[in-house]
Amino acid sequence: MTAATQIRLKKRPEGVPQDDVWETTHQAPGAPGEGEIAVEVEYISVDPAMRGWMVDTPSYVPPVGIGEVMRAGGVGKVTASNTDMFDVGDTVLGVPGVQSHYVGPADGFNKIMPELAPAPKFLGGLGMPGMTAYFGLLEVGQPKERETVLVSGAAGAVGSVVGQIAKIKGCRAVGIAGGPEKCKAVVDDYGFDACIDYKNDNVSAALKEHCPNGVDVYFDNVGGETLERAISSLAMHGRIALCGAISQYNNDDGMVGPRNYMQLLVKRARMEGFVVFDYRKRFPEAIMSMMGWMGEGKLRLDEHIVEGIDSFPEALRMLFDGRNKGKLVVKIK
Ligand code: NAP
Repeated sequence: MTAATQIRLKKRPEGVPQDDVWETTHQAPGAPGEGEIAVEVEYISVDPAMRGWMVDTPSYVPPVGIGEVMRAGGVGKVTASNTDMFDVGDTVLGVPGVQSHYVGPADGFNKIMPELAPAPKFLGGLGMPGMTAYFGLLEVGQPKERETVLVSGAAGAVGSVVGQIAKIKGCRAVGIAGGPEKCKAVVDDYGFDACIDYKNDNVSAALKEHCPNGVDVYFDNVGGETLERAISSLAMHGRIALCGAISQYNNDDGMVGPRNYMQLLVKRARMEGFVVFDYRKRFPEAIMSMMGWMGEGKLRLDEHIVEGIDSFPEALRMLFDGRNKGKLVVKIK
């Protein structure tokens, strides 16, 4: 058996997770029991939600326990199977954790066809972030043709897809991202109509310029001050799809909510949170649409791949200072 590596949560983080919150172990995995599979993990997904899973506060999933392998979505090859759900050699998508070899229940894993698209795309646009963009925008945001859709985190895994779907649906798409290079990519590569650089531009003035009739749908990935600016820019009957609040995830003093929320009343607006897994049964419908749009050249999905399981702690930090360009994935094998 090849040396197996696991990255475990050693202690709960304060602020941005540093190296000392992780412990690397090398334990050989056992054989799969009844209903279990062994998987050689090839790629794992690095997600902002991981920061929330590391703390012991009520959420939509239980926290990762101290000493446990860090939770992570991933793709890998089945090397042993004790269930008729999978055969040896199948490529599967599931939640194997930050480790090189998974042995455990087959439930929660799905077979993917790597001949349809490279495996990392199933962790990005054809996976959880893409599903988040699709259902968050179309079901929660409910954009109508010619409306203005504003998206924060616009160069990221979820945001870049939101803007492209907005354009496919005939909307005006305006992004918000950090820095001129990312803003250029949002317009040139992802086809948004405009992008506001929240690190350098006057965001309120730029919103007036690029959203002259107000924002009909705001897809919020970041929270904080950007959310306040977006609320102030809403059109009448605007909708906010509350997807995430990455600007607040490392704030140990507690998250800060929008001070101007009464503008929701004034604008007769709606702000609604969602969790992508609530739409799990409809993922095949979304994947079919996304594959179709990719085939027509209307949808571009980018991944940012970093090499080696040891780079996971640094990769997680990349999300919080914006060093990732597209869906962040660690190549394990
Ligand atoms: P991502 O956008 O690919 O990467 C995170 C990006 O956030 C960074 O590249 C950075 O971009 C931006 N960022 C980091 N710190 C920031 C700050 N203080 N202020 C503003 N922007 C900041 O990540 P993703 O996987 O697509 O996730 C985006 C959001 O969706 C996250 O909030 C995540 O929690 C949420 N999400 C929610 C669901 C759900 O079911 N509700 C599912 C998946 C993801 P810049 O360089 O532009 O700053």
